[in-house]
Amino acid sequence: MALNIIELEGLINAIERLIDDCQEEVQSGFIRENPEKLCRIALHFRAQLARTAPIAPRCNAPWVSAVIEPDGAVRPCFFHPPFGSIHDGALIDVLNSDAAVQFRSHLDISNDPICQRCVCSLFLEEGDARRARSGERKARRNFQSDPGANRKDLSRS
Ligand code: SF4
Repeated sequence: MALNIIELEGLINAIERLIDDCQEEVQSGFIRENPEKLCRIALHFRAQLARTAPIAPRCNAPWVSAVIEPDGAVRPCFFHPPFGSIHDGALIDVLNSDAAVQFRSHLDISNDPICQRCVCSLFLEEGDARRARSGERKARRNFQSDPGANRKDLSRS
């Protein structure tokens, strides 16, 4: 998808308004992406119009996550090609396979042309995984104490 310059200006205004008007939601995490990442959306379209050089984001997705396709293919992220399949063995073995290790050891995110055009990067800091696990444990406890709660919420909406 590409935008023309007028549409790009509209997008930039909308993103700036969002960042200004929704500071509380951005800070609380209700809006998941931080201002830097929101601004990257406009940067992506500016680069498409050759108004700026494409700049790769800060990302450690291939080291902290993986994407599993419906057919079992395992990718380091949404954009780089698969390096294995869960049908080849356990996920942990696919993630530690020669192909996966080779990919990660050769990936230079700042200079990689796929990364430079990335629209969905991920950067987990140390502690993010611990916080995510703690949130997951809390959700599981809530579910175990009242397994019908989510269903009730859905039926009300
Ligand atoms: S394509 Fe995007 S998500 Fe994948 S490694 Fe590069 S920057 Fe990260």
